Amino acid sequence: MTRLERTYLDWNATAPLLPQAREAMLAALGMTGNPSSVHGEGRALRMLVEAARRDVAALVGAEPAHVVFTSGATEAANMVLTPDFRMGRTPLSIGRLFVSEIEHPAVREGGRFPRESVTGVPVTPDGIVDTGALDALLAAHDTAAGMPMVAVMLANNETGIVQPVAAVAEIVRRYGGLLVIDAVQAAGRLPIAISALDADFLILSSHKLGGPKGAGALVSRGEVLMPAALVRGGGQEKGHRSGTENPAALAGFAAAARFALDGLAERNARIAALRDRLEAGMRRVANGAIVYGSGTERLSNTVFFSLPGLKSETGQIAFDLEGIALSAGSACSSGKVGQSHVLTAMGFDASTGGLRVSIGPSTTETDVERFLAAFARIVARRRGRADAA
Ligand code: PLP
Repeated sequence: MTRLERTYLDWNATAPLLPQAREAMLAALGMTGNPSSVHGEGRALRMLVEAARRDVAALVGAEPAHVVFTSGATEAANMVLTPDFRMGRTPLSIGRLFVSEIEHPAVREGGRFPRESVTGVPVTPDGIVDTGALDALLAAHDTAAGMPMVAVMLANNETGIVQPVAAVAEIVRRYGGLLVIDAVQAAGRLPIAISALDADFLILSSHKLGGPKGAGALVSRGEVLMPAALVRGGGQEKGHRSGTENPAALAGFAAAARFALDGLAERNARIAALRDRLEAGMRRVANGAIVYGSGTERLSNTVFFSLPGLKSETGQIAFDLEGIALSAGSACSSGKVGQSHVLTAMGFDASTGGLRVSIGPSTTETDVERFLAAFARIVARRRGRADAA
């Protein structure tokens, strides 16, 4: 039996590990020592961790001192989404969390806020945060209970739709709130500067950039206003996140961050051309295909679509059997495909769900052609079954 050639089109779930990240990780794995130890071995690893901090900070235009490494974006979200803050040594309470309804579950779950202190912010049918609704919600917030915190993503993981974060920041400032931006899907795909975004905190994940899984960061605007630590212990990361750092993971994260900054515009143009070719090919085969957010500003790498009557679970399996790895927008950790909360929030009937193709720097024209050939076969089989019925 010949083995089916695989085509990986699920970069928003995770990007393949970059060769330079793997190399950096292997080099770090060959080093002995604890970055907190004062001997030469420890100091060499401390240097590596601090160099990684500079690279990750550069990715989002931040100060290296404002990067706290975590085990991933989910941990960073749980760290920052808390009512329990400190302004220097003074405790400060956040009264309510406002999260857009299209956030990734890592943010949408509200971190350490009690459920009753979390309010959803609706999105428009175009899939962007409804800034009018956010304004009204913040106007109605009673600041006597504590300042408001708003969490909005820069780009959505299912649709790729870019969110109006400048308008969101302007509203949050007007009401004296804190702004947390989940930049997981945007990092390495859009130029990012924490001060230009006017965000108080950014959340990053290494594995969406081509670094290893299990590494991420919470990046802050300053050092004074910080959330109470989530992981306490030996006081690493200036007490914000205890536990011995993982130098190999951080070296890989840093290599991916350097790659992401280098030649971003040219890479995006190439990826956008592939994405356009893929979308045009899909429409030629099935002009009833709905591409979500096609009229809105989107990441250049993402196509989230539905074929009328094709359940996302069935579609995902059909593509997998064709050798194509893509995803239904929303996959539970069990692997079971859930309804897309993003499509629901946009007001679409989410019962059939959507299929997400997401590409990246090493995607080729051949990958796109393989996808289109599989797409054509799947559509033809469905037509054949409909004709026979
Ligand atoms: N936020 C977004 C937008 C994501 O797409 C993901 C991962 O799918 C996360 C957060 C969680 O990231 P991590 O896997 O690093 O915990």
